[in-house]
Amino acid sequence: MTAQILSGKVIADAIKAEVGKQVASLEAVYGFKPCLVAVRVGEDPASQVYVGNKVKAAAELGIRSEHLHLPVGTDTDELLALVRALNDRNDVDGILVQLPLPEHIDEQLIIEAVDPEKDVDGFHPVNVGKLALGHRSLIPCTPAGVIEILKRANIEVAGKHAVIVGRSNIVGKPLALLFLRENATVTICHSRTVDLAAVTSQADILVAAIGRAGFIRGNHIQDGAVVIDVGINKAETDEFARDLFDGEELDKRLNAISKRGYTLVGDVNPKEAIQKASHFTPVPGGVGLLTVAMLMKNTVEAATLRRGI
Ligand code: NDP
Repeated sequence: MTAQILSGKVIADAIKAEVGKQVASLEAVYGFKPCLVAVRVGEDPASQVYVGNKVKAAAELGIRSEHLHLPVGTDTDELLALVRALNDRNDVDGILVQLPLPEHIDEQLIIEAVDPEKDVDGFHPVNVGKLALGHRSLIPCTPAGVIEILKRANIEVAGKHAVIVGRSNIVGKPLALLFLRENATVTICHSRTVDLAAVTSQADILVAAIGRAGFIRGNHIQDGAVVIDVGINKAETDEFARDLFDGEELDKRLNAISKRGYTLVGDVNPKEAIQKASHFTPVPGGVGLLTVAMLMKNTVEAATLRRGI
């Protein structure tokens, strides 16, 4: 079997087009543009790229955005004060504090300081609790993006066995709750799972959110499974790239490594997944693009919920 590649770009563009229309109609009917504020602390290069992509996407859709960049020496109290000031600003609909924060800042305290109504990342305990209870809430963007890919590719979820590798608060756990909401049978695996391949090879839908390049291989995948790769990792050697890719794709990746020292890869070995899966999301160009699109959707959702529209 050769897997069909699920393009995150096509799906993300469709979602962004819908959000753009909603933004235009909010402005036409209610006279305001939703406003997203992204807060970044320090100089983490990946965070800089992520926030840049989010602010750019907002601008494209007519969402007002502000990018507040604080020095690495900012302490928990200073960041708390900023978050509280944003909570109090009536023109701000969404607040996003880019993670990870520098180690000296109490991340959980900051997450809990964000007004749950403006929590467009869906990380606040109130939103996590509502998600667990099946109530309407702001849902974490990456897991929401995974479900959106499946729905828009017309992949049936109800009754299917969804296996998620990874149990983080931002991906694995909320995704398990979303799969439950969609009536899948759900299994969560993690680093203490015994005989991972025996579990994952029972999956109709297999999601990898581990943070280890190319970790999920052909022997982890059931023939015909849908494989969703959430991971974003760097592969830095030609040898590693050869293990993951072939043909034209390999040439592209080797070129990237020679130019900038790395190429971005997922948690799944694409060369092997493509031989066994029915559908497969590429990295880059898969789930990552959905994360940004779902953030835009959440910003509009937050604006309408909070303003009672
Ligand atoms: P975390 O590091 O928080 O969690 C990783 C999870 O993988 C943990 O639950 C861990 O288990 C599990 N794990 C680690 N090693 C193994 C193993 N050998 N076997 C089975 N399970 C294992 O990562 P995140 O959830 O934050 O991110 C996961 C990946 O997704 C990363 O590559 C990240 O860059 C990417 N990501 C992509 C996004 C996107 O927009 N596409 C957004 C967010 C993340 P345990 O709990 O036992 O330690």
